[in-house]
Amino acid sequence: MRLSHRVSSLKPSATVAVMNRAAALKAAGVDVLNFSAGEPDFNSPQVAKDAAVAALGANQTKYLPTAGDPATRALIAEFVSTRNRIPNVTPDHVLITAGVKMALYLTMQALFDPPAAGQAPMEMLLPVPAWVSFAPIAELAGAKVVEMPTTTASGFKITPEQLRKAITPRSRVLLINTPSNPCSTMYTPDELAALAQVVAECAATIAPELVIVADELYQHIVFGGVPHKSIGSIPAVAERTITINGPGKSYAMTGWRLGWLSGSGEFGKQAVAAISKLQGQTITSVPGFSLAGMRAALSHADADLAAMRAQFAKRADLIFSRLSAIPKVQVAKPIGAFYAFPDVSAYFGKKSPGGKAIASAGDLAGALLEEQKMAVVPGEDFGGCGKNHIRMSFACGEAQIEEGCKRLAAFLGSLA
Ligand code: GLU
Repeated sequence: MRLSHRVSSLKPSATVAVMNRAAALKAAGVDVLNFSAGEPDFNSPQVAKDAAVAALGANQTKYLPTAGDPATRALIAEFVSTRNRIPNVTPDHVLITAGVKMALYLTMQALFDPPAAGQAPMEMLLPVPAWVSFAPIAELAGAKVVEMPTTTASGFKITPEQLRKAITPRSRVLLINTPSNPCSTMYTPDELAALAQVVAECAATIAPELVIVADELYQHIVFGGVPHKSIGSIPAVAERTITINGPGKSYAMTGWRLGWLSGSGEFGKQAVAAISKLQGQTITSVPGFSLAGMRAALSHADADLAAMRAQFAKRADLIFSRLSAIPKVQVAKPIGAFYAFPDVSAYFGKKSPGGKAIASAGDLAGALLEEQKMAVVPGEDFGGCGKNHIRMSFACGEAQIEEGCKRLAAFLGSLA
């Protein structure tokens, strides 16, 4: 039986695929060193677990209002107003959904139309390398993705000039992800201000429908001296920015599948109302007892957050120093999120001890898993120069980082 073109042509998520493969090997008793999952190894904060258990005990097991219950929407509106400093945000500007992926999916569905017959699609401008699901989620909504390439040398950041050149009357979305998955880089407040200035100028002239979608999921995992800034806090673009966030990474709550999106001013309110209709026709609402846990985390787990951040900072130093010591591997120092993204392309064209030809990051990741029992994400699906890189999540203990870097160094050294 035929399936839709939409799903038949959809690429599987490379990150999820490697995570699943590593989990299956582990379940089969293979001792895999897993650097694939973008998922903290820490437990969720105790206050969050206690609050969720108490909410279950209090029978908070019914449907919620579609966009979230009033208490949670109010808490997020306050979070976004105070921590992100985004202006003109009320509970009506907030929608709670099932993880940041769903928030992105709903947002793209609300911003793009499939192109009408004979018309060119609207475009999403995407600095690359970028997380593997941004492009497919936008394409599912009918977007054409326009990559804006970055390099290790440019700190994986686009410049205002590059952005200005890429914007056309068909530009609908500029995707900004800072701190970045997979590059672990961040835009400084000044750099964001310069990008916002370009967006504001172009929106007033050639691209009136341009919206910034800001994925700030790693906002609290920063340790390199660059403060996190929300581009939506900049008045010139606040009312054309949708900001997406959630507790998954910062509060070690990935499996709770919670996230939110928020807008500002009149456009933000309209967008949230429209997106709520989509949520009402899809998941109805998120579970109330998990929201009790998220409220507790956001209100009472700052100490947990600080402790995890301190660990990530140590791990970033460790993995950076170990990877930098491997001959011909180029790596940028992670300053936010928890990924190392080394360029391993100097080793392409060689052969592994197991006889596998290493022509790409995918080949290298495959051989590492088979021959070294070590799971990393190959960089091809991150776009741009990602094809020369592998991603290693350092959301794991220091002993694993030491062992993994040792195995990687030995493996690369053994290629002939
Ligand atoms: N966001 C995480 C990652 O990049 C989890 C998997 C996914 O959703 O892509 O590894």
